[in-house]
Amino acid sequence: MRPVCLITGASAGIGAACARLAARRGYDLALTYNTDPKGAQAVAQDAQEAGAKTLILQADVADPAAIDALYARIDTTFGRLDALINNAGIVGQTARVTDLTHDRLRQIFDVNVIGAILVAQGAVNRMEPQGTGVIINISSVAARLGSANQYVDYAATKGAIDTFTKGLSDEVAPKGIRVMALAPGLIETDIHEKGGEPGRAARLGGSTPMGRAGTADEIAHAVLWLMSDEASYVTGSTLNVSGGR
Ligand code: NDP
Repeated sequence: MRPVCLITGASAGIGAACARLAARRGYDLALTYNTDPKGAQAVAQDAQEAGAKTLILQADVADPAAIDALYARIDTTFGRLDALINNAGIVGQTARVTDLTHDRLRQIFDVNVIGAILVAQGAVNRMEPQGTGVIINISSVAARLGSANQYVDYAATKGAIDTFTKGLSDEVAPKGIRVMALAPGLIETDIHEKGGEPGRAARLGGSTPMGRAGTADEIAHAVLWLMSDEASYVTGSTLNVSGGR
């Protein structure tokens, strides 16, 4: 029986790369998108060609009802959940802290923190009765660096994810569930353009110790390692995959 993995934000970037690799590693997949159904369909097609059964779901993780609906579909389609890649995330336009609006703060915390916590809650509710499961929360090196003059709000959401990861992992380790965060550095995806800075990863990548930006595939390989039995004694920690940054 193929294990089942839920990936939020699987229509693009890191989530899409994780989905394609997870399919090749033998997972069946529940893939969510928010605004890009075509992106999700393209990923699902590749995953099916690799042998995976796939379920595509539209779900805005800022909407608790959408999260309930997505788990209801997973329950009826697969009847179990073995892994969660808690990946969906957004960044705002570059701004100083004094320019951050209440609306912007609400939105980024709703998506990056509250959404991620509610999605993880749904996963734990399914994994605990199974006595096994793995949760990977996608954080960022921004949690450590603070992102001054760029997006301190985003960095703060990822700091919350690191803390949530440690607390949740301590709660559920006795139940057979491992919980880790993975902190990417500068990765070539469209998130930078969405934040108003196209080419940011390539431009800043040269200043990292390894002298380049990373790829979504490099993140996916680290995520799939954390999910594997090779990482069976790893829980509660945040793994930097950041070229030394
Ligand atoms: P992308 O912008 O390429 O992809 C983001 C994904 O999240 C898309 O599938 C998008 O769906 C989905 N998404 C966005 N908002 C929501 C929402 N409200 N509800 C559900 N899904 C949503 O970003 P990346 O792949 O770069 O980022 C993935 C994760 O990695 C994020 O958590 C990000 O913070 C983190 N990260 C990325 C870094 C980088 O340099 N790229 C560095 C450090 C961390 P759709 O397109 O369908 O709307």
